[in-house]
Amino acid sequence: MINNKFRIHAIVAVLVLFVSNLWAQNLEIYGEYSTGSVLFGVGEGIEFAKLDSVYLDVDDGNYFAFGFDRDDKNERLLHVKLSGGKVYLKKIKPEQASYKIQRINNMQQKHVTPPQSEIDRIVRERKITRAAHKRIGEVKEALYKNGFQRPIKGGRISGVFGSQRILNGVPKNIHNGLDIAKPRGTPVHAMADGFVRLAADTFFYAGNNILIDHGQGLSSKYLHLSKMDVKVDEFVKKGQKIGEVGTTGRSTGPHLHWTVQWYDKRVDPALILKLNKPDGFE
Ligand SMILES: [Zn+2]
Repeated sequence: MINNKFRIHAIVAVLVLFVSNLWAQNLEIYGEYSTGSVLFGVGEGIEFAKLDSVYLDVDDGNYFAFGFDRDDKNERLLHVKLSGGKVYLKKIKPEQASYKIQRINNMQQKHVTPPQSEIDRIVRERKITRAAHKRIGEVKEALYKNGFQRPIKGGRISGVFGSQRILNGVPKNIHNGLDIAKPRGTPVHAMADGFVRLAADTFFYAGNNILIDHGQGLSSKYLHLSKMDVKVDEFVKKGQKIGEVGTTGRSTGPHLHWTVQWYDKRVDPALILKLNKPDGFE
């Protein structure tokens, strides 16, 4: 009898230990398994996280991020090792999102095919932009973990992510952002915490534009601004005003062109807002 009681206690104790161990080693992945999507994982005691053969940055809070480009349809293997030897393996085949064809016919001709006189300037600006983007990845910490918000409250969506643009009848680059139309002067807010890596004046295409590094390869960009309130390397909080809506650069009217990337992968900003945890993301 005593023996049996002891045995039951022992079994219960082992079960409790086992269950609490599973809880402690929980791993959650947030985000959609689709093209143009960024995802992040958070767990406890992550030793490493790998996407195929690439090691992802894992910070002290056990956060890591990864993303799929608009045209990235290949199957990937996510491999996460947790302390205690538990291994999480998941094959991910991004679901193909559908993208639109967008025709714009009132674009100034000089912006459809830039004049020769502007080519040097465009090349120079491209170099500056590329150098700023190269710095994305320096921050290994998940600064984005305080959550995401829309840079503008309300406003009409005048262009969606991923559409094939046809400007004055000429097929052009894929539209890599989300356009929100709002009057000039409307405040634009940072979508998440991060460091400003570019606050560029009157670029030919992007106009006044800001690039923010949210850590672990995640970045966001805000184009065509009429005014900028931040400087390079400044830290901004989620929701902080960084500038105002305008129509500088290649733009047909006041709007914000908002882009999100994971390294060089083009991500749909509309999907990023779905990443917020219901409990405020902490
Ligand atoms: Zn746009």
